[in-house]
Amino acid sequence: MGSRGSTTMKPSGARFLAKVIPMMVMLVVLAILAVPFHEAAHQLVGNTLSGTQGYVIFTWAGGMYYQYPGTPLQDFLTRIAGGLFQALLFGILWALSAWQARYSKWELDTCAIFGMLTVGYFVYAWFDGLGVWIDYGALIGIVAAITVCGVLYGRKLLSWIFELNGLTANKSDIT
Ligand SMILES: [Zn+2]
Repeated sequence: MGSRGSTTMKPSGARFLAKVIPMMVMLVVLAILAVPFHEAAHQLVGNTLSGTQGYVIFTWAGGMYYQYPGTPLQDFLTRIAGGLFQALLFGILWALSAWQARYSKWELDTCAIFGMLTVGYFVYAWFDGLGVWIDYGALIGIVAAITVCGVLYGRKLLSWIFELNGLTANKSDIT
């Protein structure tokens, strides 16, 4: 193999992958790690409202909460609690990273990741809560997450990832 003739520049493909792959992996891993919190919120609210002991089953694909039927309002509150609790947890992390981003531009991708998880679970919670379109609800949540965070962070993220307008590898170059 011949020399690339450069000692300072890495291939831009490597920089692109180094930016995109960690974001994707963190997004997916955080979404998986949050599943027990989702089911725990269903169980806590369901058990509290109904006074009976529901139970959670975990699978490799996620989890399910089982509960005896209550009133329609009890069922709705129990069902919506899972996604809303996840949105609350990620919303706190989103607010903290956005706060830090005011003084450190290194929080840009973290803000986008927490923002997408917050918006996605908040939207999904309503489909879960109402018990309608649950599969589509997940998809609509993902679309909403990408849309909201695309508006908030898209231009800066794309400038950083694709090194537009002469921007180099550092987020600190983006103002
Ligand atoms: Zn649920």
